[in-house]
Amino acid sequence: MIKVNNLKRDFLQGQQRTQVLKGIDLAIEEGEFVAIMGPSGSGKSTLLQLLAGLDVPTDGDIQINNKFLNKMNEKERTIFRRKKLGFVFQNYQLLSTLTVEENIAFPLHADGKLTNEKSKMINALIHSVGLEGLNHKRANLLSGGQQQRVAIARALVNNPTVLLADEPTGNLDRAMAEEILGLFLKFHRQNKQTIVMVTHDIFAAGFADRIILFRDGVIDKVISRKDSDYAKYLANFMA
Ligand code: ADP
Ligand code: MG
Repeated sequence: MIKVNNLKRDFLQGQQRTQVLKGIDLAIEEGEFVAIMGPSGSGKSTLLQLLAGLDVPTDGDIQINNKFLNKMNEKERTIFRRKKLGFVFQNYQLLSTLTVEENIAFPLHADGKLTNEKSKMINALIHSVGLEGLNHKRANLLSGGQQQRVAIARALVNNPTVLLADEPTGNLDRAMAEEILGLFLKFHRQNKQTIVMVTHDIFAAGFADRIILFRDGVIDKVISRKDSDYAKYLANFMA
């Protein structure tokens, strides 16, 4: 479903060219829940932005559903992103003066008015992320956990091929983080939602099928729930 080949991203910082991604190879299966971990500055967010079509690589290929993102022009990429991808930002990025319902509906306005069918779907999503009764509450009046729920519902409103999330629990306390991870797990299990989540929290990563460890722009290690040393690995990490 997602295939990344020799992916490179350079940034020019002043006169200096820094290679942030140094040739990433990665394949993610349909329905897989993958966590990406690694030190700050190792290139995790850069990779996620590239997968989301929000940035373009310096070199290499990104295929999602056999479509090469890197071969699309900006317009094609934007259309693909709106139709096929869902993105959850760390700081939610809700429109603070809009209501819960309006925020979730926002990506749909691209194709014109809200139909009855779409309104129904938005209500179903509101229910499914546990925000019943808050349809008309303004985003800036919500708690952090509630805002993150809205962000997740908004990312899912297009029924995306893949849900990408950058540190979705980074700003939340443990109890709220657990609730949000529970939501990810629910969509992963019920709808076989493919999820790629960047996190620095091993507790959060423990919800995934596979953990990909980044180090300095390369993949350092991949550990899968199926591996015999998975539990030991997690325990070591937490110690
Ligand atoms: P992580 O998410 O793993 O903490 P990032 O992918 O955000 O790391 O950043 C990796 C490196 O790339 C950092 O050194 C950062 O300063 C640099 N970087 C990221 N985006 C840009 C950009 N748009 N312009 C210049 N440098 C960038
Ligand atoms: Mg980051």
